Amino acid sequence: MRVGVVGAGTMGAGIAQTFATAGHDVTMVDVADAQLARGMKAIAASLAKLEEKGALPAAASDIAARVRATTDIAALAGAELVVEAAFEDPAIKQELFATLDRVTKSDAILASNTSSISIDGLAARTARPARVVGMHFMNPVPLMRLVEVVRGERTSDETLAAIVDLAKRLGKTPVVSADRPGFIANRVLMPMINEAFLVLGEKVGTAEDIDTVMTLGMNHPIGPLRLADLIGLDVCLAIMDVLARDLGSAKYAPAPDLRRLVGEGRLGRKTGRGVYEYR
Ligand code: NAD
Repeated sequence: MRVGVVGAGTMGAGIAQTFATAGHDVTMVDVADAQLARGMKAIAASLAKLEEKGALPAAASDIAARVRATTDIAALAGAELVVEAAFEDPAIKQELFATLDRVTKSDAILASNTSSISIDGLAARTARPARVVGMHFMNPVPLMRLVEVVRGERTSDETLAAIVDLAKRLGKTPVVSADRPGFIANRVLMPMINEAFLVLGEKVGTAEDIDTVMTLGMNHPIGPLRLADLIGLDVCLAIMDVLARDLGSAKYAPAPDLRRLVGEGRLGRKTGRGVYEYR
């Protein structure tokens, strides 16, 4: 299958790698050349690690060669499926869906990896709402088994079935969610992460204390603050903003410390510094 991926960041690169590993031809598009270079480097590094573990179905170099990088979105003209993984910003995604609707074949499926933004709102920017769906991968994409498949109001049964089937063929377990803010994953996860920032801000405990309570006390594999650094604090903040606005409850207001760290450019692992330091 010819697959387009829009965005070469943390998720876009992982999604491109996952499709290429399953034998698909991938075109990865980004507005920034530097991000494309960074994405291709991340794919090569991840494939090298997986190859060492004997976890790849083909040579890492052959898989990497299935991914093409470009800043020209018109290169997606021949794609049968596009997975959008640009910034978690409703205006950017809506604009992108209008563009993708113009540049791709009319029967291509347009999927978004959005963590929280309405699929119906994206579908409304296209002339093919039945072929618009959420395909929400988890980070790191090559390793995490869940894919949340988000069914918009107008997503057809055929589109939903095709994406559920495709997720299985990628070796993932699909779970279908209704198109409600944050879907299932982030409606449950993000308020917990946000609460951890409130607890940190109130000095109830240190970051290490909070993460240790949740790992050792609750058997979570990773604490909420380390997980926030892995996800990206800007992504966490954007999701809380969507939950607060679209669910209309003050209980989803982003924690001041989360907003402050993002304002300081401390976005987590990807910038070397978030709650914790990574250099
Ligand atoms: P990121 O900031 O690492 O990457 C986003 C990329 O999109 C950047 O390379 C940027 O240059 C590019 N971009 C922005 N506007 C664009 C446009 N108009 N056209 C093409 N490229 C554009 O972000 P990320 O963490 O990879 O998140 C991407 C999406 O995946 C978001 O919707 C996010 O909510 C979702 N998501 C993130 C995670 C996570 O753990 N980080 C998990 C699941 C879903």
